[in-house]
This record gives sequence, structure tokens and C-alpha cells, in this order.
Amino acid sequence: MALEKKTIKIIVGVAVIAAIGIIVGVTVGVVVGRQQKSNEISLEQRVNDILLKNPLIDGHNDLPWLFRAKFQNKINSIDLQNMTQYKATVLNSTPTHTDIYRLRQGHVGGQFWSIYTSCEHQGKDAAVSFLEQIDVMSRMIDRYPNVFQRANTAQEVRDAFKANRIASLYGIEGGQAIESSFSLLRLFYQLGVRYMTLTHNCNNPWADENRVDANPTWIKNDGLTDFGKRIIKEMNRLGMLVDLSHVAKQTMLDVLNVAKSPVIYSHSSAYAICNHTRNVPDDVLQKVKENGGVVMVTFVPSFISCNSSDPGSIAQVAKHINHIKTVASVDNVGIGGDYDGIATTIPGLDDVSTYPKLIEYLMNIDGWTEEEIIKLIGGNILRVMEKNEEIARDLRNSTLPEEGLIERINLEKHNLTTCRHLDMYEN
Ligand SMILES: [Zn+2]
Repeated sequence: MALEKKTIKIIVGVAVIAAIGIIVGVTVGVVVGRQQKSNEISLEQRVNDILLKNPLIDGHNDLPWLFRAKFQNKINSIDLQNMTQYKATVLNSTPTHTDIYRLRQGHVGGQFWSIYTSCEHQGKDAAVSFLEQIDVMSRMIDRYPNVFQRANTAQEVRDAFKANRIASLYGIEGGQAIESSFSLLRLFYQLGVRYMTLTHNCNNPWADENRVDANPTWIKNDGLTDFGKRIIKEMNRLGMLVDLSHVAKQTMLDVLNVAKSPVIYSHSSAYAICNHTRNVPDDVLQKVKENGGVVMVTFVPSFISCNSSDPGSIAQVAKHINHIKTVASVDNVGIGGDYDGIATTIPGLDDVSTYPKLIEYLMNIDGWTEEEIIKLIGGNILRVMEKNEEIARDLRNSTLPEEGLIERINLEKHNLTTCRHLDMYEN
């Protein structure tokens, strides 16, 4: 009996301890759980607050190309509030990435709309096709005056953001647009174009494109020609940002040698992380730092993961961003998603509503401060714009506009004489 009593006491004791343990455990679990939950909410809220006070400006969105490729620029009856509705019937491919609903969800404060048409137009109707894309975007912006506001300067971006409208800027993607003409370059500037990507995936008569780095037999200009250097000079004089996404490494180096103003990469990532020719090598990153430019990291899966069976992840995008921050600095990195210019997206960064997720990741996992995030999302590109504007003001006072023609031999080299009337070469 004595033993039995002792056993009972032990059993009761163990049961009490176990019960206390469970109660404490559950209580601690609930508290910790609640705390974790409240941390999550506060991080989301913090990111929200940052984005409400500071414009997130993306360097590259191909919505204009989507209009051309899928709608033949007929946008009068498109409902831009919700573009996902066209997935099955019109687009017959991946869901579109951009519409007003998702731009607002993603707190997009400013967007460089990419004015792009394919290299097939070079030497034929390149200028016409680019002008058509400016027209379609201008019509879109006019149709939604409470959502979009044209912006041509850093101050105008800030003004649009204050008015709760998405600052809308234009960038030409592909130097073939200007048909080797200083006049066309200036006229595009007058139409509001504020950057020009010097090439797309084709050489033009004055600059080589990125793919020559993998196929040296395609080299035509060995970087930037003398005429190309004059184009850079005129862009600096105008205050049009020089965009080095898509160009060959030698073109990057040549531009960085002659540029008087900070350059941009509107949608490129880090070559050291993924050795794609569209990305920026470390030695160039160091020169971008000296130049004061900005590399706007893109979300193109093949430039991020470098592996066709790996769709990439937010963590991998963050790795590119952190690498550029380390090799150059926090002042030289930005964001250029390339939405609607890509067939597949990175899981978690599926459309323009997802920028906050990337920012949450950088703050939570990589320890980015609010100050650093503000630079990344828009502070850096605004600084680069302001610097270009300031240098342009000085250059306009001291330099005359570029005149003259590209040498005929350079047009011939690229088979670009047949579609031109060469009257100005006759004397
Ligand atoms: Zn591109």
C-alpha cells in the first residue's frame, strides 16, 4: 500500500508538472506566435509607410510593347484597370503583368515606360514604329488622368507622386530608333523621352550590342564608334540618360570613358552572380560607381538564376541587389523589373503588385535600413536624373547642338543605305 501511495504521488506529481509544462508551453507559444505575427505586420506596415512617403520608380516596363504586339495599339476599348481579363481570349500566353489595380497594390510611384519595337524595323520604319509607341502611351496616359501623370524631370516625378498619380516617363529601348540622326535624337527628347538604351539585341551603325560578347564574330563597331561618342555627348547636352542595358561590354566601357553625366542600366543585373551578357560585370560596376550611375536590377528569370530549369526566387534577386550594393555601393542600385517584356516571371515577383515583397525580404533577411531602401526604390534614379539635368544646363550654355551626318561607310557596313534617299551625301 505504501508503495502504491508513493506511486500515485509520483504519477500525480508528474501529471501536475506535465500540465504546468503544457500550460507554460502553450502560453509561451501563443505569445511568441503573436509576437511573430505582430513583427510580420509591422514589417509589412513599415514597407507600406516607406512606399507611401517615397516614390518607387521602376526603370523598365514593356506595357507599350504589349499594346503593339497583342492589341495592334488599339487601346480605346481596353480596360486598363484589370488586364488579367484578357489572358485567355486575347493574349493566349502568360498573364499580363501590369494594370492599374496591380500598380496601385505595388505602390508604384513612377514608371519608365519602355518605348520599344524590334530590330526588324532598323533601316526600314524604325523611327515610325517608335513614334507609334510614344503615341499609344500618350493616349493611355490621357485616358486615365487621375492615375498617370507625365513627368520629364525629377521634380515632375515628385510632383506627380504628391498628387497620388504614377509619374510616367519614356525611355527608348534601342538606338536604332534615331536612324543615326542627331535631329531625331533631339526630337525624341522634345517628345519627352528621357533615356535611350543605346542598342537592343542588334548592332546599330554606332554601337555594339551585348550578344557580341558571346559571339565575337558579330562584332561590328568594337564598342562605340566616334559617331557614337558624339551621340553620348549630345545626350549629355540634352539631359537624356544613357542606358547601357543591352550593350556590349566594350560599349559600356567606351561610354563610361566619355560620359559627362551619370549613366543608367534600366534593366540589368549582376554578371558575377549570373554570367549572362545582359548583366553588368564587376569591373564595370566599379566604373559605374565612379560615374555615379545606377544599375536597376531586373527580374528576368534567365538573367537571375542562369539556369533554365530554375525559375529564380526573391532571394536570388536580392543576391544580385546585394552584390551591386557591395561591389559598387548602395547609391548605385535600383529596380527595373522588365514586366510585360518577359514570358515567365520569378515566383513571388509575378507582377507589378509584388515590389513590397522584395523590399520586405531585403529589410527582414538582409538587414537593409529604411534609408537604404529609399535609395534603392527611387532615390538613386532621381539623383541621377537631377545630375543629368544639372550637367545638361551647363553644357547647353557652353556647347552647340551636334550637327552633321554619320559617315556613309558606316551605313554601308550595316546595309542601311538602300532604304534611304542619300541626298545629303551627294556633295
Ligand atoms: Zn530589354
